[in-house]
Amino acid sequence: MKIPFSPPHIDDAIIDEVVATLRSGWITTGPRTKLFEQRLAEYCDIQRVVCVNSASAGLELVLHWFGIGQGDEVIIPAYTYTATAAVVLHCGAKPVMVDVNDELLMDVEQLGNAITSRTKAIIPVDIVGLPCDYDRLMDFVQQPSVRQKFQPNNPIQEKLGRILILSDAAHSLGAQYKGKKTGALTDITVFSFHAVKNLTTAEGGAICLNLPAPFNPDELYHDFCIYSLHGQSKDAFTKTQAGSWRYDVCSIGHKCNMTDIAAAMGLVELARYDQLILPRRKKIFDAYYQAFNGDRRFRMPVYETAEKVSSYHVFTLFLNHTTEQQRDEVIQKIAEHEVATNVHFIPLPLLTAYKALGYRIEDYPNAYNNYACEISLPVYFDLTDEQVDEVIRVVKACVPDNSAL
Ligand SMILES: *Cc1c(COP(=O)(O)O)cnc(C)c1O
Repeated sequence: MKIPFSPPHIDDAIIDEVVATLRSGWITTGPRTKLFEQRLAEYCDIQRVVCVNSASAGLELVLHWFGIGQGDEVIIPAYTYTATAAVVLHCGAKPVMVDVNDELLMDVEQLGNAITSRTKAIIPVDIVGLPCDYDRLMDFVQQPSVRQKFQPNNPIQEKLGRILILSDAAHSLGAQYKGKKTGALTDITVFSFHAVKNLTTAEGGAICLNLPAPFNPDELYHDFCIYSLHGQSKDAFTKTQAGSWRYDVCSIGHKCNMTDIAAAMGLVELARYDQLILPRRKKIFDAYYQAFNGDRRFRMPVYETAEKVSSYHVFTLFLNHTTEQQRDEVIQKIAEHEVATNVHFIPLPLLTAYKALGYRIEDYPNAYNNYACEISLPVYFDLTDEQVDEVIRVVKACVPDNSAL
C-alpha cells in the first residue's frame, strides 16, 4: 500500500468551480477573490482580509507596508520554514532568531533578551497548527519598558507606537486560542494556501487585518489591495468596466494578487472546512495519538490544551532516545514500506544560507533537539482509516526501542 505524504484534496466540487471560473470570462482577481476574502473574514471573525498569491508575498508585503528595511530587526523562531526569515532579509532587515519551547513555539521568555531599539516586528509561527501564546506576546509588546525601546521611523510605526506582531499562520487556519480563531488573535496574520497546506488554492495566501484603533480596517484593506497590484488605483476588473479606463499609480507597489481560479478552489474548501476537513484531520491525529501514546519509544505532540486547539496540520511524532542519524535511518526504513514521512522542520541555522549569515545551531538547543528526533506522519483528508492503520503498523515495526542504551 503506497501512502503519499500530503496530496491535495481535489474532487468534482473543486473541478466544477474552477471550470465555471474559466468559462466566466474572468480569471484573475475579481468577484471570486472578493467573495473568498469576505468568507475568510467571516470565518476568522474579523473585518478585513486581503488575498494574495502566497503567504511569503503576504508577509513581505506587510513588512514593506510597515516600512521595515535596512538597520531594522525582526524576531522570528529558529524552528520554522525559510519563508519566515527570507521575507525579512528581502526587506533588507535582520532576522533575529530565538529558540522554541517544548510546544515548538517561539519561547516568549527569550524575547526580553532578543529585543533592541531596532526591533520593529515579531513574527511568531503557529508551527504545525498550534497557535502561539498570543496573550503573552501581546502583553510583552505592550509593556511600558518594551514600548519605550521602540523607535518609530515613519507615520505608520508612530501610529502603532510599538512592535508589530505579524503572525505566520501558514499552518494554522481554523486553529483556536482561548475560543478565538487565528486571524483574530493579533495585529496581522498571514495564512498560506500552498498545495500542502490544510486548505489549498494551489498557491495562495491571505492577510488578515486586525490592527487596533486608530487603524481603520476598510482603509487598510483598500491600501493593501492597491499595494498588492502595482500601486494602481483600480484593479483590472474595475478598469474593464465600460468607461472606467483611467487609473493612477500613487506608490510603487508589488504584484502578488490572487487569481479568481485560485479563489474558486478556496471558496469550495472553506465552505466545508469546519464540517469536513478539520474533523477528518482531528480523527487521524487522535488515531495516531492513541496508537503511539504510552509506548516508551515515542513522545507525543501537543495539539489540544485547555487554551488551544490545533488546526491538525502536521502530526509530529518524536522518537525517544534517538539521535538525528538514527531518526534518518528510521525514515529510510519506513520509506522502504512505501509510507512517505517527513521532518518539520530543519531549523534554519542548520541550512547553508543561514550558516553563511552567521547563525549557529548551538544557540538553539531546543530547536535542534526536537528536530533531531522528529518524524511527521501523513495527515490529509483522503487518507483512509485503513491507510492510517498501515502507517501505524509500519512506524511501530521500524522504530527500535533504544531506552536501554
Ligand atoms: C508554507 C509556509 C510558508 C510559506 O507559504 P507560501 O504560501 O508557500 O508562501 C511560510 N511559513 C511557513 C511556516 C510555512 O510552512
